[in-house]
Amino acid sequence: MNDPRQKIRYCPRCGARAFETRVPRADDRPRPVCTGCGYIHYVGPVLAAGAILHDGAGRFCLVRRALDPGRGKWSFPGGFVDVDEAPPDAARREVQEETGYEAEMGSLIGAYQSRGPRNKRVVILVYEARASGDPNTTSEEVEEIKWFTQEDLPWTEFAFESSVQALREFLGRVP
Ligand SMILES: [Zn+2]
Repeated sequence: MNDPRQKIRYCPRCGARAFETRVPRADDRPRPVCTGCGYIHYVGPVLAAGAILHDGAGRFCLVRRALDPGRGKWSFPGGFVDVDEAPPDAARREVQEETGYEAEMGSLIGAYQSRGPRNKRVVILVYEARASGDPNTTSEEVEEIKWFTQEDLPWTEFAFESSVQALREFLGRVP
């Protein structure tokens, strides 16, 4: 089953292994529905947040990924938003973990669809952020931290198309 909407075996509410696929009332797509308790399995994208991390002088900090997806390729710092976390706080935390820098969070650049581990569907909110402090990665996801000028940005070596889209939009706004 490649459709992520259909991937479930045991009911998270009642524990039964009793799903049938049908279109629930007031819906327009088939979903797994538990015949034991009526639980309907809706799957949405997972929320992530990331930061276009810059120094205020035209340089950008990227991380080279140590893990798949996109191992060996570049990304800006980012990761999943925890359930009790505001997205800008998640982006600031990921910057800290992946680069060691403190991030002064700026405006939202946009929301982008992406793919995460095991082909998980992800929506990433991308913010602009200014870095301060010193680099020091504590993340096993990161192989290398590097600063790029706008001219050096590794456009063909990004792990995620969403990074390219967000960076292009951000750079398009800079006068
Ligand atoms: Zn159930």
